[in-house]
Amino acid sequence: MPNVLDEAATQPAPLLVFGPRSTTYDFGPSHPLTPRRFGPGISLLEALGAVPGLAPEPATDDELGWIHEDAYIEHVKLASRDASTPPRAGVGPGDTPRFDGMHEASAAVAGGSLRAMEAILRGDVEHAFHPGGGLHHAMPARASGFCVFDDPALAIARARRDDLRVMYIDLDVHHGDGVQAIHWSDPGVLTVSIHETGLALFPGTGFPEELGGGAAVGTKVNLPLDPGTGELGWLPALELALPALAERFRPEVIVSQHGADAHAFDPLAHLRVTTTAMGAAARLVDSLAHRWAGGRWLATGGGGYDVYRVVPRAWAHVWLAASHRDVPTTTPPEWRERWAADAERYGQAPMPEAFDDPPNAGLPYRAPDEAADARAIRISEEVVGEILEVLPAPA
Ligand SMILES: [Zn+2]
Ligand SMILES: [Zn+2]
Repeated sequence: MPNVLDEAATQPAPLLVFGPRSTTYDFGPSHPLTPRRFGPGISLLEALGAVPGLAPEPATDDELGWIHEDAYIEHVKLASRDASTPPRAGVGPGDTPRFDGMHEASAAVAGGSLRAMEAILRGDVEHAFHPGGGLHHAMPARASGFCVFDDPALAIARARRDDLRVMYIDLDVHHGDGVQAIHWSDPGVLTVSIHETGLALFPGTGFPEELGGGAAVGTKVNLPLDPGTGELGWLPALELALPALAERFRPEVIVSQHGADAHAFDPLAHLRVTTTAMGAAARLVDSLAHRWAGGRWLATGGGGYDVYRVVPRAWAHVWLAASHRDVPTTTPPEWRERWAADAERYGQAPMPEAFDDPPNAGLPYRAPDEAADARAIRISEEVVGEILEVLPAPA
């Protein structure tokens, strides 16, 4: 195994976005999107030599207003400071409950992705990674699916203010509906979301017929996969779609969302992807950033609810891809020991010894899984074929 610290010193490090406010985005102890994930997640990145270089601070109201309605921002502020605020605009009991300081915490997630994009646009860094970002369900006027303000959509909006063409790649198991909706009519934003079909999973959208509005038809791409699809369907579907779409669209910036909830162990969804495939997907995104976008690449986290076995390794794969470094054979023993008791307590033990998973995450590979994988590849071929008929090359 190479000495990770020596190797790190010779490679350009991506900007890691994490700070004290990251763990304040907290819906409470029984909510699945728990800030507990930052413990094992950031400590694994640090064991690889990563050092947080940008601490998220709240985006301004004006900046949030690029993508959210003013009345919605005001409502989040009210709910943030007053526990008696009636449920409204998606903020209330259920997926996205109010909490004290909700506005500042949510605006800070948005601010983290926004400042990272600005660092990329200035040329300070080629790549940035914001593990706490990726809140892709937030809509212009409502919270949804654990998401209050839509940080990837805001980072995209920032790049659009510089008139750059943006390709957004959403690898979360859930459809990236908020980002798609916010940039629905902008032909300068290509969104590509691969997800478990809305027939089986929240938010119930993300079908191939969703193509974008007006002059933007063909710039919204959706690859809905059957439950049970694993790495042998998911990764080839991406390898078919992403290079072909990038070649046609010619992005000048890439924003990607690396939700880890497509993993076989995830408790909220039904795909069977592995960390191995997630790493390969991150390397594919990196290669497209260099091929088409001058290296400009902002990666975010996203969902992921197995916070000991899966999320840290998924983040590590993104970090290593953005660092152009090989994946070490084994996870650090001290890291495993440090989090073993917590993993046990939350039913997510044992801590994994390798960054990569065994084939099919060690699960039996049955005929229905094989059928789902084959169908994923067909869906990708069909969707890409249809998109290339309607998506014009840039002038
Ligand atoms: Zn790179
Ligand atoms: Zn998700």
